[in-house]
Amino acid sequence: MAIRIVPEHDIQRHSIAIAPLRLPQPRSLYRERAARLLTLAEGHAMADFLRFAARIAHHQDALVHAQPVALPDIAGLLTTCAAHELPPLSVDGWQRQPDWQALLDGLLERVRPDAGLPPAVQAAAERLAAATLAEREQWADALLAGDAAPVGPAAAPLLWAALSVYWSQLAAQLADYAAIASPDGQHALCPVCGSAPVASVVRIGDAAGLRYLHCSLCESEWHLVRSQCSHCDASRDIGYWVLDSEDAATRAESCGDCHGYLKLMRQDKDPAVDPVADDLATLALDALVEQQGYARTGPNPFLFGA
Ligand SMILES: [Zn+2]
Ligand SMILES: [Zn+2]
Repeated sequence: MAIRIVPEHDIQRHSIAIAPLRLPQPRSLYRERAARLLTLAEGHAMADFLRFAARIAHHQDALVHAQPVALPDIAGLLTTCAAHELPPLSVDGWQRQPDWQALLDGLLERVRPDAGLPPAVQAAAERLAAATLAEREQWADALLAGDAAPVGPAAAPLLWAALSVYWSQLAAQLADYAAIASPDGQHALCPVCGSAPVASVVRIGDAAGLRYLHCSLCESEWHLVRSQCSHCDASRDIGYWVLDSEDAATRAESCGDCHGYLKLMRQDKDPAVDPVADDLATLALDALVEQQGYARTGPNPFLFGA
């Protein structure tokens, strides 16, 4: 059963400078995600699904190292976007370079012979490999707008995996944090690419105690104070839900104003938490929070069409 627990006091140290944005580190991120998924798969009721996701994350890691993507000179664009509070690598405004199609080809070359993947995934990879560049562009446009139907549920995670490797590599090169603005009071979408967050994470280390939302596409993280809804910014009726133990590293944060929820991972409870992996390993929590009348506000890249 789901247990609603009392929120803890906000332990943020407001005296320190808070980085508004944490850019992704794709050269280690996918490798760590693959390892985390394999750890979570041990003894898990959905072990096969978690191992499938681990294989895809493993291939994403290989792609980052084999096919680096260079960010074009966008100094002027960054200035304009910052002035108008727009995400510089917006999913609906950024002109995707052909590199992303090459990344998709690279991914499919790894997925197609991978006997560790389910036949349905390999069939989806064959279909993507046989598609024209124009078809793939149309499917990508639809998927980035939240519509997985044109590409289909089996192929959607593969398409997204390639798009994520493309966007995360670009985002990692946006070294000028100060040039990226988050619209006042709006935290629902990534300030880098405009996608919804998969979950939020309370970090340790140099950001100890600070909560960041994690982008489902470009893997950037943006700061949001704790005990505030990441979807509508209300803080009046925030609830926390866990599955079995109040000490669980993953909890769901619900909002009585917009009736949305998103999961929150506590790195101080488990340093290895990964927003995508730990979200997939706690789908039972989704079912129970949805029974309470809340609707999820951000996607998991492995659950399109689910
Ligand atoms: Zn993003
Ligand atoms: Zn809300």
